[in-house]
Amino acid sequence: MVDLGNQYQHIQEEIDTAVLNVIRSTAYINGPEVKKFQESLQEYLGVKHVIPCANGTDALQVSLMALGLKSGDEVISVDFTFAATVEVIGLLNLTPVLVDVDENTFNIDIDALKAAITPKTKAIIPVHLFGQVANMEEVMKVAKEHNLPVVEDTAQAIGAEYTFADGSVKKAGTIGDLGTTSFFPSKNLGGYGDGGAVFTNDDELAHKLRGIVNHGMYRRYYHDEVGVNSRLDSIQAAILNVKLAHLDEYNAARLKAANYYSEAFKNCEKIETPFIAENSTHVFHQYTLKIKGTDRNALAEHMMSKDIPAMIYYPVPLHLQEAYKDERYKEEDFKITNKLIDQVMSLPMHTELDEEQLEFITSSLLEFVNK
Ligand SMILES: *Cc1c(COP(=O)(O)O)cnc(C)c1O
Repeated sequence: MVDLGNQYQHIQEEIDTAVLNVIRSTAYINGPEVKKFQESLQEYLGVKHVIPCANGTDALQVSLMALGLKSGDEVISVDFTFAATVEVIGLLNLTPVLVDVDENTFNIDIDALKAAITPKTKAIIPVHLFGQVANMEEVMKVAKEHNLPVVEDTAQAIGAEYTFADGSVKKAGTIGDLGTTSFFPSKNLGGYGDGGAVFTNDDELAHKLRGIVNHGMYRRYYHDEVGVNSRLDSIQAAILNVKLAHLDEYNAARLKAANYYSEAFKNCEKIETPFIAENSTHVFHQYTLKIKGTDRNALAEHMMSKDIPAMIYYPVPLHLQEAYKDERYKEEDFKITNKLIDQVMSLPMHTELDEEQLEFITSSLLEFVNK
């Protein structure tokens, strides 16, 4: 699905130097590379504050902590996402309220969001799944109307841009009160280990987050609240400094591969290529097809038999997972996710796909579908 080895070879000298410099400096925790990365990412995103942390799951957790949510508060998020989004809600003893997604974008369904709001709702977490920004114009309208904070899970969409009806453009993760991301190696901006960050334009939330990620410490050895230990390593920051300079080029390479796929499949009735939303660019964290009218699982097996990874993201919706199922949920409220889990299939997507590989992947797929 990814080819991190080849990508490394193209930037090997820069990376090796950056990593060695950190080792020699001995500033392994909160070294100058972390500050540099924080500032570079702020500039790239056009956001006032970036708070680096240990991973994308922590980024979500500390965001909910900074909002001061209390046990029993309801947090609305989507049924179709990686579990981390909802895991942190449960971990903090908040009540997850899962809602259905839009059939085309795979992102939060606005009517479902509206219907899920109760007096106990205290936050909304839209997820920009597979690299495309959720319908933030409407999410922000709903949030404003009910005075709810919004935390954008941007783990899969760093660099994507959203255009509002008034023509203004914002980067994914900088629209809501808080945005979170992950630097897991396979993400669009991936380190060589774990990493994450929170984005915000709110000075007070930024201050709070800087304390929470550091044991609730705002002055050294004075702990004003219960925090966590969640830091980005200096070595990871040094690597990310090198890779951030390539992010737009990497996202362009993904788009090029996606366009190749979509062109190859455009006349195939049994395959629906990814929907491109009007208001959002797509950074293709995943290239996800909908397989209709042919056996999706048999097709995935056919691809695997040719050594082509074909992954099902995600095979089980969260409302049916052992950890998150709840009597409150009714199957008819999840019509779309229940359908998507039987249709979706993701193809290899990374920055190093060449034409020969793309040709082999697309012809292998079409060979099965057209037989
Ligand atoms: C990867 C991911 C996360 C978690 O990030 P980690 O760095 O692995 O903790 C959260 N949400 C989504 C949507 C993700 O894809």
